[in-house]
Amino acid sequence: MQEENNNKNGSENNNEPKKKNKNIFFVYGAILVGILLLQFVPFKAGTQEIGWETLNNLIQNGYVTKIDVINRDYAEIYVKETNLEEAKKLAKTDAELEVKGPQFKYVISSPEGFDQKLEQAQSNLANSEKIYTKNIKRKDIWGEAIGWLLPILLLVFLWFFMFRRVGGGAGGSNIFSMGKSRAKLFEGSKIKITFDNVAGLYEAKQEIVEIVDFLKSPDKYTKLGGKIPKGVLLVGPPGTGKTLLAKAVAGEAEVPFFSMSGSDFVEMFVGVGASRVRDLFAQAKAKAPCIIFIDEIDAVGRSRSKKASFSSNDERENTLNQLLTEMDGFDTNTGVILLAATNRADILDSALLRAGRFDRQIMLDLPDLKEREEIFKVHTTGLTISKDLNLNLLSKQTPGFSGADIANVCNEAALIAARKGKEMITHEDFHDAIDKVIGGLEKRSKVIKPEEKKRIAFHEAGHATVSWMLEHAQPLIKVTIVPRGRSLGAAWYLPEERQLTTRQQFYDELCATLGGRAAEEIMLKNVSSGALNDLERVTKQAYSMIVYFGMSDKLPNVSYYDSSGQEYAFTKPYSEKTAEIIDSEVQEIINVQYKRAKQIILDNLEKFEKLSQRLHEKEVIFTEDVEDFLGKRVFNSDAQDVIDGVKKFRDENLKKEQEEIIKEQKQAEDLKKESEKKDKPKF
Ligand code: ADP
Ligand code: ZN
Repeated sequence: MQEENNNKNGSENNNEPKKKNKNIFFVYGAILVGILLLQFVPFKAGTQEIGWETLNNLIQNGYVTKIDVINRDYAEIYVKETNLEEAKKLAKTDAELEVKGPQFKYVISSPEGFDQKLEQAQSNLANSEKIYTKNIKRKDIWGEAIGWLLPILLLVFLWFFMFRRVGGGAGGSNIFSMGKSRAKLFEGSKIKITFDNVAGLYEAKQEIVEIVDFLKSPDKYTKLGGKIPKGVLLVGPPGTGKTLLAKAVAGEAEVPFFSMSGSDFVEMFVGVGASRVRDLFAQAKAKAPCIIFIDEIDAVGRSRSKKASFSSNDERENTLNQLLTEMDGFDTNTGVILLAATNRADILDSALLRAGRFDRQIMLDLPDLKEREEIFKVHTTGLTISKDLNLNLLSKQTPGFSGADIANVCNEAALIAARKGKEMITHEDFHDAIDKVIGGLEKRSKVIKPEEKKRIAFHEAGHATVSWMLEHAQPLIKVTIVPRGRSLGAAWYLPEERQLTTRQQFYDELCATLGGRAAEEIMLKNVSSGALNDLERVTKQAYSMIVYFGMSDKLPNVSYYDSSGQEYAFTKPYSEKTAEIIDSEVQEIINVQYKRAKQIILDNLEKFEKLSQRLHEKEVIFTEDVEDFLGKRVFNSDAQDVIDGVKKFRDENLKKEQEEIIKEQKQAEDLKKESEKKDKPKF
């Protein structure tokens, strides 16, 4: 009971039940150990086990008054009180013996044999003096109890363990709190995030300001009979700041904020999800006005399947139904506002999006150039950065980055600078951080065989050469053959910020991606497994061109894309024959582009070879190295000022490095001269 109370208070007290649980287990363990110990405690205090020799002696001396045979297993021997001391001497024992008896125990190996032996031992005695054994059946309570108690205890233990695992996680929940919501509660006054922390996202902020206003002064709206949306759906790719925005709303309005992920509702036990929803809303109503934030709502909100197929997940549907019921059940004016986040609004159940539920949708896109710059600004305040840091250039260098990626870059840059023991974070550190976020950490220690290194150089130079010659391939920034993350080499491109991709652009990109393997085949006459990543990308892209974008000559203008994500779960929407055409078309596209890539390399073979040589020597090359051999890229590119900007910083660094090298050389020479001077007298 107490545990339930504890959980009601929200997340702060979550440690308490956990501790208690441990105690319960400790008690169970102690009982078990106790029972086991009892088993091994000697049969009865004050009883000595003796052999036949001793028993025979005792009988011959006439000390024994009574022998009880217990369960035909052992005999309890009673000795006359007056003979106790002598008996002890006979048994060669110093132990205190029970006065009333039994004082000795004799283990019987065969009951019949024992009777005979006893008979023999007393054969010289008169019948009236003989001792006769009495057979006694005695129940060993503990022994029997343990026989059935142990399995039960084991079962109980397993059961608890299972429930704990299932219900486990951060909430420290146990079976008693399975149905409790596992929402984290943030008190409004403690949330330090405001709209100032959210960069960009102007439209989203504008829409959401109204909600803050309502939470702050609901009377203003209710007086006029206006209705505020109950639910707002934030839609956008991961890391675009959905959680951040929701928190900012709570921070601005200074109201409590319940945060939970959609997957927290889903459990393998029937009814748990629905009960958690109920509990969440009950908690929220008690704290109104407040905000409930459900991240990844698609985990529960996925549209319910129309056909009752075996794929339908009843438990999830129950949970969703409960959510819908709760949303209908509360009056807008209770002051509870539901914010939910998803990156796929299209797969949500339409009932969720109906008026009176999540009737407002706010789109959060990946940030554009200007927004990225602002996000950089937000995340570099508080860092010690050098004055010449060019945020604009950084934002140009990071197309396709989400807000979370940028936050990551800023943090990485700080760590990199700290590792180098710098006073402040410079642009170079940000470069390294961007490279790392894109390609993983450099692994200079990875051992690479010379011939492998050569192959990698050919491969990467192949990418560089082919992409340089293609109009629509992405402009190259940097190529390296230093292993990074899990790949052995990498090339950095600057993706164009475009919303649409044309057929020709697809072709050029496929061709550039195949350039690595093409170069390997031309130079080494065989291919390697190093192109796995490239081939995977190429295959997926070629497939999507045909099946989704209708860009194939044999299957023009058809798309088997399913935006609802469930139409074609078990059946393909096309015939076997079409499937064959798709396969052959995929192969065809790839073949053509592979040939094209090879041709481009062959046409520029000499330049390509020089480029791969330079790459092999320097391990890292930049745009200008490629320009040295292949000439200026003829295609106009917006990327030029990024390339120039990056180059400028690199040149400055290079100058600094060279100056340092010269300085070091000079120092070394001076040292040498000095030591030569010292050495001279010796010769
Ligand atoms: P989502 O919920 O959309 O997956 P989050 O809100 O959790 O993404 O964002 C993760 C992190 O990325 C945030 O904590 C924040 O540091 C950073 N971030 C994302 N978008 C922005 C933004 N627009 N302005 C500032 N920081 C952002
Ligand atoms: Zn490659």
